[in-house]
Amino acid sequence: MKYDYMQFKEWLNTVPVIESHEHYDGQTAPYDNIFELVINNYLLTDMMVANGGADPLEVIAQCDTFEQKCEVFLSMYTNAQFTCYGQAARSAFLMCWDADILTTEGLTKIRDEQAKRTQEFGDKLIEKAGIKAAVCDLFDVGMLLYDKTKVYADWCRFAISTPDWHRIMSFKDVADVNGKDFRSGEIACLDDYIGAMGACVDKCMEDGRFVAMKDQSAYSRDIGYKNPTKEDAELVFYKMVDDHEKILSSHDARVLSDYLFHAIVTLSEKHEIPMQIHTGHMAGGYNDVSKANAAKLTDLISLHPNAVFDLFHGNYPYMGDFLFLGKNYPHVVLDLCWVHSIDTDYSIELMRRMVLTCPTNKVLAFGGDTFGVEAQVSYLEQARENIAKAMCSLIDDGVLEEMQAKRIAADWLYNNPNRIYKLGLPRYDVS
Ligand SMILES: [Zn+2]
Repeated sequence: MKYDYMQFKEWLNTVPVIESHEHYDGQTAPYDNIFELVINNYLLTDMMVANGGADPLEVIAQCDTFEQKCEVFLSMYTNAQFTCYGQAARSAFLMCWDADILTTEGLTKIRDEQAKRTQEFGDKLIEKAGIKAAVCDLFDVGMLLYDKTKVYADWCRFAISTPDWHRIMSFKDVADVNGKDFRSGEIACLDDYIGAMGACVDKCMEDGRFVAMKDQSAYSRDIGYKNPTKEDAELVFYKMVDDHEKILSSHDARVLSDYLFHAIVTLSEKHEIPMQIHTGHMAGGYNDVSKANAAKLTDLISLHPNAVFDLFHGNYPYMGDFLFLGKNYPHVVLDLCWVHSIDTDYSIELMRRMVLTCPTNKVLAFGGDTFGVEAQVSYLEQARENIAKAMCSLIDDGVLEEMQAKRIAADWLYNNPNRIYKLGLPRYDVS
């Protein structure tokens, strides 16, 4: 690399960040079991796959002493230490705790110093990382709307989590969603259900903290949403209304889910907020990634030209399909949340090709997709390294000048999410 990477990276460290995606409330507190803190992010999946499918936390829990737990952790971590998750976990604790999780001393230090993992500890790390806001999916709209005892960090904005709203197998599921999120009166027909869903989104918008809708149904179903008629969906819905014990066939459940998903996208259009959709790679192992390819969303995207589709995770490993969707549709936004930590080289190539194929206002460069501050700031560091490498190589190739590369990076990390989620934070100008 001819262009000075270190200089670009140092500059990039000063650029503020708005994250498109996180999963926690911004609260930081000590852990009783520090192995949960160290592993219970995406490293868990790599360690599980490395160790024949056993849950590493369960294996560690079977040890009697802390020393034995460290020994077992280190023997299991060895095979996963070089994956992007493995590297990010190690950097996280070097950055935040000055402790090396590749040693018993490092793990012991993290255990002995847990008391320092206070809210102030977390807030300082977030401030140092330059994180100004993040769209958090806490999976529970009802809790966000109605539980006034919960505390959230100032940087938290929220996504309206929608998988439960269309993953309906029986009338019990209807009653559960209504009790948890909608809190509406009687639901006796499909129109009642869609009305209750709409009223819930109205409440979220009045609340003022919700800035997107979010769906990760790719974990449990094929995202090739079809477009059934209302009559077809009503027929299915009435089967449940007529018999509260009835469990829908997978075909009927799919018809209802497809119909309701269009209704959910229509609500995002009405309120002019992005529809965030999980595409590509899934955590946890044993899943089928082909059912999560964003290319399957083509019909849905075409049918909703006024919605904004915020497609997650770089559609890993389907790079070409992802680039095509961003290039082809004015209302598709390409979101790199999580993918920096799934595969750094994929991300660098993807960003280079994004510059060469897609307008620069269509990219969101970072969301950690994490559950705690250590992984959050470590994944951001990984993303900044990837962005700097992609931009420097484009400068080397003569595609970009230094100032152009800086403006693109600042737009991707901050100005684009600020505009797309309508956060109203001050613009960041590169001078
Ligand atoms: Zn996520």
